[in-house]
Amino acid sequence: TNIMETYEFQSETNEILHLMIHSLYSNKEIFLRELVSNASDAIDKLKFQTISSPELYENNTNLCIRIRINKDNNTLIISDNGIGMTHKEIINNLGTIAKSGTKEFLQTYNKTTQEKNSLIGQFGVGFYSVFIVSKKVLVKSRFGGLDKNEGVLWESEGKGKYQVKKIFKKNRGTKITLYLKSEAQNFLESWNIKRIVNKYSNHVAIPIEIYTYDEKTKTSIWEQINQAQALWTLEKSKIKDDDYKNFYKKLTNDSNDPITWTHNKVEGVQEYTILLFIPSKSAWDIWNRENKHGLKLYVKRIYIMDNAEQFLPNYLRFVKGIIDSNNLPLNVSREILQENELVKTLKKALTKRILKLLENLSKNTESYQLFWSQFGLILKEGPAEDPENKIIISNLLRFRSIKTTLSENLISLQNYIDNMQKKQEKIYYITTDSYASAINSPHLEFFKQKNIDVLLLTDKIDEWMMNYMTDFKGKSFQSVSKYDKSIEKLNNNVQDQEKNINENVKLLLNKVKEILKDKIKDVRFTHKLTQTPAIVTTDSNDMTTQMAKLFSSAGQ
Ligand code: ADP
Ligand code: MG
Repeated sequence: TNIMETYEFQSETNEILHLMIHSLYSNKEIFLRELVSNASDAIDKLKFQTISSPELYENNTNLCIRIRINKDNNTLIISDNGIGMTHKEIINNLGTIAKSGTKEFLQTYNKTTQEKNSLIGQFGVGFYSVFIVSKKVLVKSRFGGLDKNEGVLWESEGKGKYQVKKIFKKNRGTKITLYLKSEAQNFLESWNIKRIVNKYSNHVAIPIEIYTYDEKTKTSIWEQINQAQALWTLEKSKIKDDDYKNFYKKLTNDSNDPITWTHNKVEGVQEYTILLFIPSKSAWDIWNRENKHGLKLYVKRIYIMDNAEQFLPNYLRFVKGIIDSNNLPLNVSREILQENELVKTLKKALTKRILKLLENLSKNTESYQLFWSQFGLILKEGPAEDPENKIIISNLLRFRSIKTTLSENLISLQNYIDNMQKKQEKIYYITTDSYASAINSPHLEFFKQKNIDVLLLTDKIDEWMMNYMTDFKGKSFQSVSKYDKSIEKLNNNVQDQEKNINENVKLLLNKVKEILKDKIKDVRFTHKLTQTPAIVTTDSNDMTTQMAKLFSSAGQ
């Protein structure tokens, strides 16, 4: 139909729109970043599809994003010759919010404006930012390969309704016309547009052009205003730290700088480039099971997919970045990635790189504590998931201990070993569910008295992790809540005291055994306690008391 059809935004969309416009008001210019990013995505998609269907080019292979200012009618036009949208797609993509839970998140969390800015792209609400600066928006689009009469017009004032109509559109791709609000007239200045493009979109791999009057030739020309080369393809020496940081921010929509990164071009049998970042803040949904992670995958500079999880183990899922491979096939799918041998070797290599990067980072205590506070819990999955790299992962773990107070820096296993007592054979730890119950545990009395440090493990995952930690540099781990000879041995005058356990104590032990009968395995005398008269403990081969508690609370 060539008739104008009117639709209503999904009710959620309306609210998001409202929230967005208000929370992003102070940072209006990001609408351009969002539009350029969509245009660049659309061109990437086109490139990808033309691999199998070259006819989609329609003899128009000069892929670019164009910006045109029209001061006479206060419009800013952004067009691309990417894949475009069909009638159905335009309704689905611009009329609904695909990601559920977005609204709840924005409302319940008391985010600062800056935090909200950084979230905008994560939710696929990027396009709506046009309404921060526009009183009306027209989107004309035609999907690559469709008849010129199969174009579609989408029109809205961003107030609950939008209209859609079939139109004739000569060129493939999307053309977006913004009717700027009176307070957004500064976006009609080409110097301002150039500044914004340079700030956010300089490394978008597609040329971005602006229509300008050229003084020399006295004609209007399309002038390219971005570098249009992917950052990771440049020589390291030509890239400034700020370039890396900006690239990271654009890639992740995180407004914080990354803590560190690694950029490597590897040649040989496998040829690839990686640019991997460690964020300084964990994503709000990193613990959500649906959390999307993984690298952005390119094959020979062509964008293939986001969230390629296959290149890093789960316990490094906080890593962000890109991998650009020269060896993988262009038509690689997630299923293929899963099976592919190349990918498996890449995963090993990338894992080593990241662990090395973290090892370097750990030399800077302050940065590393920051890293640990954000991602330590995730890294703790490492010993179980990646036995091959257990040693290096163990070195990266950090612990609280009797001798570190809450405010002090955490210690590494190396620190612990360096401070061991002469007679001490093992690395002692306790697992509980809070710092308070750990530090006050009667199990620690003896150790405090003897000035022997004990690691205090209070995260849920610790108990499980310790099952995979057998030893570190030849010292085995020992839970202090389990009976262990090494602990009794630490007592200086064990021998003498052993003799002194007179018949009375034996009588008492027997009496207790008699009363508790089947409920216990044994009752023993211990040197471990100094103030508490008795303690429940488990045998060295049994689960710890904390594990037993976890099981019983799970109804087992
Ligand atoms: P996101 O880019 O995160 O998916 P947006 O709100 O920016 O969210 O865009 C929504 C969707 O609209 C995109 O995923 C894409 O499918 C479609 N879209 C937006 N702009 C374009 C464009 N220039 N060409 C083709 N499709 C587009
Ligand atoms: Mg977008």
